[in-house]
Amino acid sequence: AAGRELLSPSDVHRTVARIAHQIIEKTALDSGDADAPHVVLMGIPTRGTTLANRLAAKIEEFSGVRPALGSLDITLYRDDLRSRPHRPLERTSVPDGGIENALVVLVDDVLFSGRTVRSALDGLRDLGRPRAVQLAVLIDRGHRELPIRADYVGKNVPTARAEDISVLLSEHDGHDGVYLHQE
Ligand code: 5GP
Ligand code: MG
Repeated sequence: AAGRELLSPSDVHRTVARIAHQIIEKTALDSGDADAPHVVLMGIPTRGTTLANRLAAKIEEFSGVRPALGSLDITLYRDDLRSRPHRPLERTSVPDGGIENALVVLVDDVLFSGRTVRSALDGLRDLGRPRAVQLAVLIDRGHRELPIRADYVGKNVPTARAEDISVLLSEHDGHDGVYLHQE
């Protein structure tokens, strides 16, 4: 079943654009100040990386400044690695210039328990010491198990635990959209 539509293709487009504007405003990325932080978007594979790519393009379009872009595989940092089936390792890529002293914006598609983000923070620690870390997600579906919240949220969606959200992005799925499925 297709499920209930939460975001249409144009909603996804608008939401990414809004988050890009919010990142520009909150990070003062376009301020031109010598002491303004170096902004690095780090996507969490797979769809977080795709969203980070889209955000970087929008941020460049709106501000004239292209943020650095990387991706962070968190598989090895999960605290439930032993109890879950392993999936193939994704690629971690760190942009030239690294993350030392940077303002890192982690980007993911869905925020749920917070455990992926906690793992990402562990992963970042092995790459350097950012000045600050922020979090951008397309969907916050609630049910946090850790004291983690997002700085940029596309849409807050109250869900039941048994429900599932599909995030479709044209790069992977042929078209954009977000749907809610009952178990
Ligand atoms: P958490 O670690 O916060 O429990 O879950 C977030 C991670 O799992 C994200 O990387 C996200 O891709 C995935 N995830 C968790 N719940 C959902 C969901 O309902 N739909 C989708 N598409 N991904 C989810
Ligand atoms: Mg994911």
